[in-house]
Amino acid sequence: VEFILDRGEELAPRWHDLVHEFDYPQPNGWYYFEKDPETGLNTETPVDRSQSRPPAPWSYKGFRLLHGLIFEKEGPLFKPMRAMSRAIDGSRLEHLFTRLEHLGKEFTSECMHCGDCALVDVAYFCPMSQCPKSQRNGPCGGSLEGWCEVYPNEKKCVYVRAYDRLKHYGAEDSLVAYRVPPVNYDLRFTSSWLNFYMGRDHTAKRIGLGPPGEE
Ligand code: SF4
Repeated sequence: VEFILDRGEELAPRWHDLVHEFDYPQPNGWYYFEKDPETGLNTETPVDRSQSRPPAPWSYKGFRLLHGLIFEKEGPLFKPMRAMSRAIDGSRLEHLFTRLEHLGKEFTSECMHCGDCALVDVAYFCPMSQCPKSQRNGPCGGSLEGWCEVYPNEKKCVYVRAYDRLKHYGAEDSLVAYRVPPVNYDLRFTSSWLNFYMGRDHTAKRIGLGPPGEE
């Protein structure tokens, strides 16, 4: 131990010259900042990420289109959907509506029926079913080379998949644009669509959508 400490003291003043001996990057690894070839350290310039655009699946494009039509305030079907939700909420049709919504989302997104939908936060992946830890606010930090910590070499981290989808549109920064709160378990097994249009879920609160008639 004494030898190691002494040797450390001896080398410390010229650690800059020795960086390359302590640098073991992953093959094809990705770094946020540009590397300074002279020192082996990073510069303060972020890497230009605009050149690579992974392909986006048609299902994702479809989700984006649908979202823009019915869930964006400016979308042409937003107002009709909100009016319909107002009529259905609390009526005898609510159970049927909830069931149909869940069946559709179970088919497209393996929906777990949490009622506080976070599809829009994770590039239309359901974080409740696609992340074994149901992480709704970013990756846990345990993934390695893009693989999920719980299913290594079997399943990609859902946030890696979401990043690739978003990057196709140059929108990857949206993953850090706002904080997604923990799931609201009071809404479990209820209709997430009604919860959104009636101003009850976290997305409605984030965009300032209150209950109809109270805005
Ligand atoms: S986030 Fe909740 S409501 Fe949305 S698809 Fe997943 S389980 Fe269903």
